[in-house]
Amino acid sequence: MGRTTVSVIGLGEMGRALAGAMVTAGHPTTVWNRSAAKADELVALGAQRAATVEEAVLASPLTLVCLLDYAVSGAVLRPAEGSLHGRTLVNLTNGTPAQAREAEAWATGHGASYLDGGIMAVPSTVATSRASVLYSGPKRHFDAHEDTLKALGAAKYLGVDAGMAALYDLALLSAMNVMFDGFFHSLAMATSHSEGSAAGFTDLLVPWLTNMSQVMHAFAADVDSDAEPVLAQGLDVVLASVRNMAHASRDAGVRADYFEQSAATLERQLAEGLTRYTAPDAVRRLRTSD
Ligand code: NDP
Repeated sequence: MGRTTVSVIGLGEMGRALAGAMVTAGHPTTVWNRSAAKADELVALGAQRAATVEEAVLASPLTLVCLLDYAVSGAVLRPAEGSLHGRTLVNLTNGTPAQAREAEAWATGHGASYLDGGIMAVPSTVATSRASVLYSGPKRHFDAHEDTLKALGAAKYLGVDAGMAALYDLALLSAMNVMFDGFFHSLAMATSHSEGSAAGFTDLLVPWLTNMSQVMHAFAADVDSDAEPVLAQGLDVVLASVRNMAHASRDAGVRADYFEQSAATLERQLAEGLTRYTAPDAVRRLRTSD
């Protein structure tokens, strides 16, 4: 059986990597981009260039969309809404869960099947073992195209709500973002000393964080469980060390805002009678509804 024909709309850094992966995997591929010249290399590899978005959508049962944001993907797809009926749209543009659900309602309103996706890769890792793509929407649409989507990287289905892929994508990116903020904070502290070096410090940090990240599985189990948390520290002990982090940062000439806020929260919890620091409490105190 021949490979599924695929269209790719949006040939920025990421869109070109996605289309290239499809061509390399042997899928007849049609591409469209606002700046048509970005298709040149792909056309040289065997892709077809569509003159319009509508032509791209009509060329394949499956269309991948990878544009700057949902405002752009909405505007780009609108002129082709009459050609969506019976086709599957997979929007891999980064956006919020609400935008994914809105895009699904719009696409299904025009007779298309819709999946939303989040790309956990950079262009150079697409189609390698270091790439995964998160998908959500009706499972039957994922099942119908899973084999084709695997050409981009591991295909991970998260659930029927079209917003799930965006939620997990942005949650994963938040963890990465805060981790890097923490990294830069620690570098500012370490290099404030005349004998400190970023490289020497990072040699200690990477194995430390790698080991500590293993604890996340146990924390997660506590968050998912209704039972008494297994992992707990005294709240007063945690507060004392957070205060030390704030003091040492200030002494090193480094902003301590994060740790001051964190200490204030822990002080409030202690005042409210909480004595243990646990993952479920840490998650709860971040929720705006509590
Ligand atoms: P680029 O800036 O390289 O590409 C942006 C794309 O959007 C281009 O195809 C561009 O067209 C198009 N575009 C922008 N504005 C308009 C417009 N007004 N009308 C029509 N088309 C427009 O970004 P990336 O390819 O890197 O990112 C694309 C998506 O992939 C984003 O949502 C990003 O978050 C996501 N992503 C990117 C990753 C990365 O490492 N690059 C990693 C994971 C996800 P034109 O070429 O004509 O300007």
